[in-house]
Amino acid sequence: MEIKIAEIPQEGLFFEIEDPRRALEWGGGCIPFAGPIKGWLRLQLAGERLLVKGEVHALLELSCGRCLEVFRYRVDVEFMDEYLPMKVLEQEDDEVELSQEEVNLAFYGEVITTEEIYLEKVYLALPMKPLCSQGCKGLCPRCGINLNLGSCGCSREELDPRWEALKALRNRLVKK
Ligand SMILES: [Zn+2]
Ligand SMILES: [Zn+2]
Repeated sequence: MEIKIAEIPQEGLFFEIEDPRRALEWGGGCIPFAGPIKGWLRLQLAGERLLVKGEVHALLELSCGRCLEVFRYRVDVEFMDEYLPMKVLEQEDDEVELSQEEVNLAFYGEVITTEEIYLEKVYLALPMKPLCSQGCKGLCPRCGINLNLGSCGCSREELDPRWEALKALRNRLVKK
């Protein structure tokens, strides 16, 4: 929903989030959802500052970075952000650097969309390297078996790059 900043009443605006979308497209990727995005948003003006408070809950379907299995990932975010009017940036003298505090703030134009606010929260909550579990054993690099489900007779020692590095170091030490 699009909101005109100028039309936000004194007491603020409150929105329930109930978004049935099945996927989030962001930066060329696409993340499927296992259920609706839920939560709430509260928008309020404090002078020129726009305060946005809310909660976002979503259940994502991610693919494990080690074993490639799809698993469910829960996102529960509570947040409170401050937005400054875009014109603050335009007024800013070229020689005046924005303070660190201002750099971390977001800026608003004439309108703001609720989707943009909560979808960004979901996106920011995505793990850098999704794992089905911390102890995921991944796939055997030789035969491709999922090592969480079974084991194989392959020797992994030679293939582990950490061991390769140690071996190389040991060989160097021995030669000295
Ligand atoms: Zn895994
Ligand atoms: Zn194997």
